[in-house]
Amino acid sequence: MVAISATDSQATGKTGIVTAKDLSGKLAILADAAKYDASCASSGSRRESRGGLGSTEGMGICHSYTPDGRCVSLLKILLTNYCVFDCQYCVNRISSDTPRARFSVNEVVRLTMDFYRRNYIEGLFLSSGIIQSSDYTMEQMLDVARTLRERESFRGYIHLKTIPGASDDLIHQAGTYADRLSVNIELPTEADLKRLAPEKKRPELEQSMNQIKVKRDEHVRDQKAGFKHAGKFVPAGQSTQMIVGATDTSDRQILDTSSHLYQTHAMRRVYYSAFSPIPHADSRLPGKSPPLVREHRLYQADWLIRFYGFDAAELTTAESANLDLQMDPKLAWALRHRDRFPVDVNLAEREMLLRVPGIGSRGVKRILQTRRHHQIRDEDLAAMGIVYKKARPFLITADRNAGPLSLDSPSLQRQFRPPQRQLHLFDDDPSADDGTSSRLEVLP
Ligand code: SF4
Repeated sequence: MVAISATDSQATGKTGIVTAKDLSGKLAILADAAKYDASCASSGSRRESRGGLGSTEGMGICHSYTPDGRCVSLLKILLTNYCVFDCQYCVNRISSDTPRARFSVNEVVRLTMDFYRRNYIEGLFLSSGIIQSSDYTMEQMLDVARTLRERESFRGYIHLKTIPGASDDLIHQAGTYADRLSVNIELPTEADLKRLAPEKKRPELEQSMNQIKVKRDEHVRDQKAGFKHAGKFVPAGQSTQMIVGATDTSDRQILDTSSHLYQTHAMRRVYYSAFSPIPHADSRLPGKSPPLVREHRLYQADWLIRFYGFDAAELTTAESANLDLQMDPKLAWALRHRDRFPVDVNLAEREMLLRVPGIGSRGVKRILQTRRHHQIRDEDLAAMGIVYKKARPFLITADRNAGPLSLDSPSLQRQFRPPQRQLHLFDDDPSADDGTSSRLEVLP
């Protein structure tokens, strides 16, 4: 482990540990370092390189969504992976011996424009380690966005990660150039931060989030009032990322924090990123990642909170504070509340239909439209995009009323669990199952 002091001179590669000096070398290091940020999912483009600069193989092309729902490819890089902070879960922390690199502002601008002209990307996702100070780093990132917009007339998508502790003025300026800003909450509780990232303070992070919300509200208000000077301010809103499984904090607390962020700071998205072990890690960190299915369940629960009217506290219980890895959180909730079912598909309110396993928001819409004209029968359900097998025990239709008896059956829960399989001698530890078999499972 080599300790570095990330002063500016070291960050330019004059001293310190292994550094990359040529542009493609820097790109390899700084695109790879950016992959740990889940705020836009890195997907690795497969364009052929044919030599020279511009290959997207392994160079962090990710996808994101614009405010109008278009999917865009972004160049996802760090300005630098030098950092004066020592967050224990991060490969770029000051005490890490990872190879370092730093782009100049003009290099990031050049790369973005080159990739853009070659049609590889439609925008930029830029994050950074902290060099010298929060404001110094934020100014550099702001400079990238300003140069792209003003000098290069770049109209593509820009997502900037704000630097913890950067001044309000810099964040405000960044918001006038970027489509999206994000401030990473990093860990679900203040105690987790204190333990693993003591230089980061929850109030400071939330102050930056609040600053973005207040400014965005002001701009939206001015635009609605027809003020011509209003301009744009982060039209795609703000997002954040939370690392899951670096501490033993429960899903209940994680969802509680997410709810708070959505409600208080009008967060557009909270991204969950399963902790991945890093070399020479602190002994307080777990030696392996949590099962990926946990991340998946959190996304499902998050979806239920945002679009299905669930309260975060409903999705777990005090006794069982983690989401069930074997079944989706909506089904798990329904099985815990069998007294609320079956519901009559021809009479139930929209809010209750949204809680029926197997029925998504589109299915609910179709039910509401159809029942205006005729009574819904069992055979109609499949045509409405409803997962019949899942919804059946929880519904009454015009031609079927199973009554509460089927819901009382002790076998109901078993019926929804994935089948048990025989373990083989050389199977990995089953508790380490990454759950990929169920990762494609989606709500309803
Ligand atoms: S501030 Fe960011 S880059 Fe620096 S150590 Fe912490 S998580 Fe890593």
